[in-house]
Amino acid sequence: MTPPSTPLLEWMGGAGEGDLIDEAFVGDGWLEEAFARPSAGAQTPSVDRTATEDVALAEELARVVSLERTMRWAQAEQFRLVESARVRHARLEGVGEVSTAAQREFATRSFVAELATTLVVPEATAGRLVADATRLAGPRAATLAALAAGELSGAHVRSLLEVTSTLPGEAADEVERVALMDAGSRTSAAFRRRLHRLRERLHPESLSDRHARAALNRRVALDPAPDGMAWLSLFLQADRAVAIMARLDALADAGDPKRPDPRTTAQRAADVAADLLLSGTLDHPDRLLAAATGRVAGKIVVTVPVLTLLGVSDEPAELDGYGPIDADTARRLAGHAPSLHRLLVHPESGAALSYGRTTYRAGADLAGYVRVRDGGCRFPGCARRATTTDLDHTAAWAHGGRTDADNLAHLCRAHHRLKHHTGWRMVHEPGGTIRWTSPAGHHLTTHPERPFTPVGRPGTPLPAPPAPPPTETDLHEPVEDNDPPWLHARAASLAA
Ligand SMILES: [Zn+2]
Repeated sequence: MTPPSTPLLEWMGGAGEGDLIDEAFVGDGWLEEAFARPSAGAQTPSVDRTATEDVALAEELARVVSLERTMRWAQAEQFRLVESARVRHARLEGVGEVSTAAQREFATRSFVAELATTLVVPEATAGRLVADATRLAGPRAATLAALAAGELSGAHVRSLLEVTSTLPGEAADEVERVALMDAGSRTSAAFRRRLHRLRERLHPESLSDRHARAALNRRVALDPAPDGMAWLSLFLQADRAVAIMARLDALADAGDPKRPDPRTTAQRAADVAADLLLSGTLDHPDRLLAAATGRVAGKIVVTVPVLTLLGVSDEPAELDGYGPIDADTARRLAGHAPSLHRLLVHPESGAALSYGRTTYRAGADLAGYVRVRDGGCRFPGCARRATTTDLDHTAAWAHGGRTDADNLAHLCRAHHRLKHHTGWRMVHEPGGTIRWTSPAGHHLTTHPERPFTPVGRPGTPLPAPPAPPPTETDLHEPVEDNDPPWLHARAASLAA
């Protein structure tokens, strides 16, 4: 592919809400025309205009347009190369004519990891790039050609892929065909609205069938926000969502009007929602579930620096699964924790770091040490927290690998499987540094989240607790994890 020579068919960013752009801006030579005939009244008499300035401005704008066109072409070229590299990488992973769907899936995941670590982007981003590239090389080839020609922006392409991905083949082809006819004259926002209207018109399925399927994706999501705050969102049926909001608004206004309350209505609604979710009970036909809502509280883990806990310093604490929280909140959580473990043990004090080969499961001290050291999944760029990951033997236990801090690392389920089923290799170095090698031979290093001063190996291993024989099942089970006796006081608090 070579960069296109046709001019852009869109006035970048200037159209706002309008669906259609002025005809003068569409077609060959619009830029020259637009600047050759300034509209009446557009000129402020007090501004000193010179012909040189006008020419310079027109040249700069023409250059901006030309660069945009080149970037769009480059984006199309990148999609093409990503798909080509994916096919090549799959061959490297041994995928051939007779490979199973699972083998192909692992090869794709391995390539996504390769791309994510090469571009230093989250795997979700790389995964989307790979999936988009595959579709643009196949059924959406016309869209790729329009991007390469500079007629569409990356945002247009994203919207088109998103909307057509939720349509059956023929309807998707029709939406693409109609949408591309005049895509260049619409801003990406207007193009998106048009796509949604086309989707509704051309969708062969009824809205109720689609709703039933969409409802299968309902879930709760937590998104960290700055300043010790976070968003908790529910993706659920619109009728329930609207009813919840109405109930919260009504409850926010239900208090005694004579009681002074400095909170705004919005603050009261947020507080009522949080209180209901944290301690509300449920009237449910499943009696075990109904009873559980009365006594199950959410367990949260906070790592508090000792001096903060003592009130001497205001160094922030760490809320597991979120990040830094302010000292006052941390002290409040630590103070109210019914089972606070104030463990001020120095790391050099000799907690057992090796259980040798007598047991497969890592002991609680060791598991806690590795969990605090790793913080989360040790695959390059992965952000999954240690609470949801597996503790993996770098060198397999079955092949002589020790249950030892230098041979244990946290991997999330996806990366744990990637390590076992694809060409990704890891080498564990003392102190917790891990060196990875990708199937393409790319070298990457991940460092522990909290490196500890190396601790002398205990001379005598602790008496081994009775251990179950090692099985493959054990490998995939998360290790039970107690609070580790390290440098920081750790407060395991019941959210109250
Ligand atoms: Zn991971």
